[in-house]
Amino acid sequence: MTLAIMSALLDEQRGLLEQLSQPRRVQRAGRTFWCGQWAGQEVVLVLSKVGKVAAATTTTTLIEAFDVKRVVFTGVAGGVGQSVNVGDVVVAQAFIQHDMDSSPLFARYEIPLYGRDTLACDAQLSALLLEATHAGIKSARGHFHHENSIQDQRVHQGLIASGDQFVASAEGAAALVNGLHQAGHALLAVEMEGAAVAQVCHDYGIPFAAVRTISDRADAQAHVDFSAFVQQVASPYALSIMREFIKLV
Ligand code: SAH
Repeated sequence: MTLAIMSALLDEQRGLLEQLSQPRRVQRAGRTFWCGQWAGQEVVLVLSKVGKVAAATTTTTLIEAFDVKRVVFTGVAGGVGQSVNVGDVVVAQAFIQHDMDSSPLFARYEIPLYGRDTLACDAQLSALLLEATHAGIKSARGHFHHENSIQDQRVHQGLIASGDQFVASAEGAAALVNGLHQAGHALLAVEMEGAAVAQVCHDYGIPFAAVRTISDRADAQAHVDFSAFVQQVASPYALSIMREFIKLV
């Protein structure tokens, strides 16, 4: 029951890599896969690379070449839901591609030939990830007593949208939220990979769950301190959350 842990950024992967006993490095499809054991579990760590196609290739390779049976994604995302702030964490319930538009042939957002617009995450794996997130944040918080910018963090669960776009304007974010609202969806966060991973896992019948720390509000400030945030907050969170998760799965 090999578990894949995908990250979008190198900083997020580094801490996880240190947890593997006798890591084995395998090159495939232009990617580096790290195979090893963590807390008695067979694990493969890999960077998704950025964007939907890159994430889909990575996921397909994990399943076809590494016989992965469960996939978990840890990363960062822009918060667009009203109460979704920097430092909060979102556990995905489902994903949608905000840039999918084959109208008028298909409804806006519908994935052609799938008969649906959202793809749900695995309920059981996501419940464990939610539990791990609460526990992980609590233990990570201990490392941040001097970090006063991150306070009152909340854990949310709901819809995340993915698209091949770094959303970096309040207008752009509002357009996404409103468009999805009109289609009956309440959006919490936006990123660039999750929906692609969800679709590949759906195709193969592989359970998938995802957790994203909010790095920005997808507005004009979105790029500011992005890498500092990833290094100082998101990466320690990813590690604390996965440390709890690996005990539960
Ligand atoms: N600077 C990074 C690339 C960042 S791209 C590098 O050099 O590697 C942004 C990444 O964070 C993507 O993987 C995406 O999933 C996520 N993300 C965070 N905030 C986002 C936003 N506002 N819009 C879209 N994606 C966002």
